[in-house]
Amino acid sequence: MPRRRKDWGFCPRCGKKISWMESYTKGDRVYYVAVHYYGKDPETGKKDVKKCHLGPEEYDYVTKTHPLVLQGAIEDIKEPNARMLAYLDALIEALPYAKLDSEKALMLAARFKGIGAKLEQYAEEAKRATAESGDSTGLDRAA
Ligand SMILES: [Zn+2]
Repeated sequence: MPRRRKDWGFCPRCGKKISWMESYTKGDRVYYVAVHYYGKDPETGKKDVKKCHLGPEEYDYVTKTHPLVLQGAIEDIKEPNARMLAYLDALIEALPYAKLDSEKALMLAARFKGIGAKLEQYAEEAKRATAESGDSTGLDRAA
């Protein structure tokens, strides 16, 4: 992957700002690495970097017995919260095949209502934080 001046956002593994992304191929899979650059070491002159391995785009080996295709952390760099939304969509699509009895269906309905209430609460908090700070996400981020 060529290096570009791009805002890669924050590392899903350590939370620090990503300086650039690297990738490598192993077998038929592409793996991604978030690189954090801390300048040049004054003694050696070498770049002081820390690398966080984010894994491949998808984890097939885990998903053979699982209704979801698990995605690598790289997906969240491409699009923030991409994995959470993809997993939620996959769960919703799987519901008709789950053969839920009445009790389990009602239990799931209660949980989804709880999720909906929490999301409305987060939206309100984010809106308030945005109004106070001018930050478009409304979330605090580690530098
Ligand atoms: Zn990191």
